[in-house]
Amino acid sequence: MSKTAKWTISDSEKLYGVKRWSSGYFEIGPNGNLHVTPDVTNAEMRIDFNDVIEEIKEEGIQFPVVLRFHDILRSQVALLNETFIKTIQDAGYQGQYRGVYPVKVNQMREVVEEIVDAGNKYNYGLEAGSKAELLTVLAYNTNPEALTILNGYKDEEFIRLSLLARKLGRKIIVVIEKYSELLLLVKIAKELDIDPIIGLRSKMTVKGKGKWEGSGGDRAKFGLTNTEIIQAARYLESEGMADCFKLLHFHIGSQLTDIRAVKDAISEGAMIYSELHHMGFKLDYVDVGGGLGIDYDGSKSTNDSSRNYSIAEYVADVVFGMKEVCDLEQVPHPTLVTESGRAITAHHSCVVAQIVGEIRANSAEMETDVEEHEHILVTNMRDQIRLLETQENLQEIFNDASQYKEQAISAFKLRVISFEELAKIETLYWQIMVNLQERMQSAEFIPEEMQELDYNLSSQYLCNFSVFQSAADTWAIDQVLPIVPLSRMNERPNVNCSLVDITCDSDGKIDQFVLGKGISDVLPMHKLNKGEDYYLGMFLTGAYQDVMGDMHNLFGRLNEVHIFSHDDDPLDFYIEEVVTGSSVDNVLSIMQYNPTFMAASVKKLIDAKISEGEIKPREGVKWTDFYENCLKGYTYLKTS
Ligand SMILES: *Cc1c(COP(=O)(O)O)cnc(C)c1O
Repeated sequence: MSKTAKWTISDSEKLYGVKRWSSGYFEIGPNGNLHVTPDVTNAEMRIDFNDVIEEIKEEGIQFPVVLRFHDILRSQVALLNETFIKTIQDAGYQGQYRGVYPVKVNQMREVVEEIVDAGNKYNYGLEAGSKAELLTVLAYNTNPEALTILNGYKDEEFIRLSLLARKLGRKIIVVIEKYSELLLLVKIAKELDIDPIIGLRSKMTVKGKGKWEGSGGDRAKFGLTNTEIIQAARYLESEGMADCFKLLHFHIGSQLTDIRAVKDAISEGAMIYSELHHMGFKLDYVDVGGGLGIDYDGSKSTNDSSRNYSIAEYVADVVFGMKEVCDLEQVPHPTLVTESGRAITAHHSCVVAQIVGEIRANSAEMETDVEEHEHILVTNMRDQIRLLETQENLQEIFNDASQYKEQAISAFKLRVISFEELAKIETLYWQIMVNLQERMQSAEFIPEEMQELDYNLSSQYLCNFSVFQSAADTWAIDQVLPIVPLSRMNERPNVNCSLVDITCDSDGKIDQFVLGKGISDVLPMHKLNKGEDYYLGMFLTGAYQDVMGDMHNLFGRLNEVHIFSHDDDPLDFYIEEVVTGSSVDNVLSIMQYNPTFMAASVKKLIDAKISEGEIKPREGVKWTDFYENCLKGYTYLKTS
């Protein structure tokens, strides 16, 4: 496309590939702003991110913020349940679907409450993997028909709590992760005379592909081997508790990228279920765990950040796969349980952060006019500029300029050229590189050394957020998350950038971006306009990212804005709740500091200077208040 053609939103769609990863929840609006369409069944319903940002500013809430779209959570809960219901009908499957949401994926109370509420009509339940999570689900999963599944390692207290839930009439299932837990459970159940519902987790031989493949196979941390499953079943029988054994569980990993792993796991699990049935253990449930993936990079592939299947295909493979084996083995179709977390929560939240500056290698320039007696290295570099106009071989210019720059640095260290001369040479060098880069755009072949030009010349946009708090997995495991500007998508984005955060850590950066054509190390963004705010959205952060952040550099949790769309006006929304992020005194207290004491001691120092006459009393009061206000303030940069 020519540089002068008008840039349209469809060019932006091609560039950023929003529709490829947004599952219908986000799209570029005709006005060039990103829009959210939180209910995929209602195309009318759409919210402009810009309106949300304006509203947040009006309420005096500081950025960065986490936006939570409750309608998206509800949509995803409905989508998963409806897909199972429909597929079960289509397949003539005799069992039911009873999904649970694993709270570890996002434990925020508002998220859990919304999921429980949206899932109530489907009897959708909760899963817990630790004592704290169990205490949570006990209080929140109150629908007597919905399941509560307990995974993770368990102590005596954990088991007693689960039996309390049985007393309260809950369908709570204790999944045994290792053999000794079973002995403990049987002992306590007998002591309290309460019948537990027991599940056994199989280690399975199938492994998922991708980053969490260790969740299955011989070396899996959780679960029982086939031998242990048989032993466990026989043990329960000998204790007169065979009827308590109701569920077979497996979970071969999160973010399963390849549908073949799902198919394999279902057929292996279905066989184990059937064999147990033949042995006389008539289970009611097969729990196929989590793993339903998210297409973070929009490639529909087996990349770690993608998946080669849709929700509908996943559900079909679970339902039809189970039916096929059960029919062959002539055993009843069990109730199907899934523990999808990522797929339920990933889309519903995003981080909105402001670009607060630009960092560029060639941002400052020296005067480069010819001077009398200038050093030959300066002259040589200037000659390269002239050669740009006449010489065909751009690679030679690139090589020579690079060499002169290196020589200049050595010459500077040997005190042969001055600091100013070195700066002049650098200025000329970057002018040459910018020129070469422009001419490379139309070149058919780009020599290897010159391929890094784009990256070396790219800007770094400084973004007011912390990678460690808001996108931990991009740092820890190279997870890619889609990032796009929230406005100006009807303008050509002509600055290629990577992103750096405001932590004092050089790992605090993002240089892998999802674009329509694939993963890129730079993100095309717009030139910053003076006096105009420029916001980015980082998407699909609702699963794990939201709750895994750490406090590197004492940047704390973000302000959160919870958004609902209006039923009667599809273009309107309301902020249902604001959850204030960490203040400086919050994060200091966590690190054992005492902010009250700190304020008092700084006040004492200021008072001493006042009595020495070095600070005027009125000024001293101002400084004292200022320190105290900063302690109560937000941990991120204040931009307005
Ligand atoms: C983490 C976990 C899940 C959730 O997996 P997703 O891939 O997020 O759906 C489900 N079950 C168990 C046992 C888990 O540990």
